[in-house]
Amino acid sequence: MSRLVYLAGALVPAEQAMVSVFDHGLLYGDGIFEGIRVYSGKVFLLTEHVDRLYESALAIRLQIPLTKAEMTTAVEQTVKANGIVDGYVRLVVTRGAGSLGLDIRRTANPRVIIIADTITMYPEEMYRTGMRLITASTIRNHPGALSPRIKSLNYLNNIMAKIEGTDAGTVEALMLNHNGEVAECTGDNIFIVRQGVLKTPQPDAGILEGITRNAVMKLAREAGIPVVECVLTRHDIFIADECFLTGTAAEVIAVTSLDGRQIGTGQPGPITSHLLELFRRLTRGE
Ligand code: PMP
Repeated sequence: MSRLVYLAGALVPAEQAMVSVFDHGLLYGDGIFEGIRVYSGKVFLLTEHVDRLYESALAIRLQIPLTKAEMTTAVEQTVKANGIVDGYVRLVVTRGAGSLGLDIRRTANPRVIIIADTITMYPEEMYRTGMRLITASTIRNHPGALSPRIKSLNYLNNIMAKIEGTDAGTVEALMLNHNGEVAECTGDNIFIVRQGVLKTPQPDAGILEGITRNAVMKLAREAGIPVVECVLTRHDIFIADECFLTGTAAEVIAVTSLDGRQIGTGQPGPITSHLLELFRRLTRGE
């Protein structure tokens, strides 16, 4: 059975789902997106993802041609039509086709695209052993240039840092902000644990405010673990007891070294493991 993609109001076979070469999403990265998980046939935290999508749209002055309720229904229908039980949804809104200039007034018909797919995560073994990280020399976009809080189609900043990680043999890379503080990784948020307290950079540190980040902070608070959003530097990571990343695809994954320097015991720590367990219980009922 051919996969069905939602495109501009209809479910069409994947091979027929096409956008114009004049779409500003392609020409300029002018658009926004979301990556969402499906667990046991249910779209996880869909309201939060739809809310973030509309915030991104507002920030780039893009009018989404659907209401939030219509968007929610469209995502659920696409998942159902493809028989996805455990998978991943990519929701994209482009500015639409226009002239070759930058003027958004000369574009028309923003394109809403919904792809329901299977999921590729980090190898399961990495959840038991933890991952290594390097610090990329590419800093995160300056919030005054293009706010990292916008989940835009312009991901070159992250891709450049990801290449540095790949070259160094790691699957993720740490990005600092314009002040030299810890921001996030190329596609994941970062946390540390220090003396029983969970710490993570605040949204205005130049990060995407991850939906998984927020869900994990809530789980931690409910479990009685203090959580603070604060400025973090690489020094804080080097002296941390534990470190982990969160993301829609990654879920919760331990980081056991940064730039070749061991973090904590060099093994996933107890609070990280506990939060991973709580997260999996929330998503899979494990
Ligand atoms: N930061 C960046 C740059 C991301 O692209 C993502 C999503 N892959 C995240 C953090 C994690 O966000 P979420 O938990 O909403 O997937």
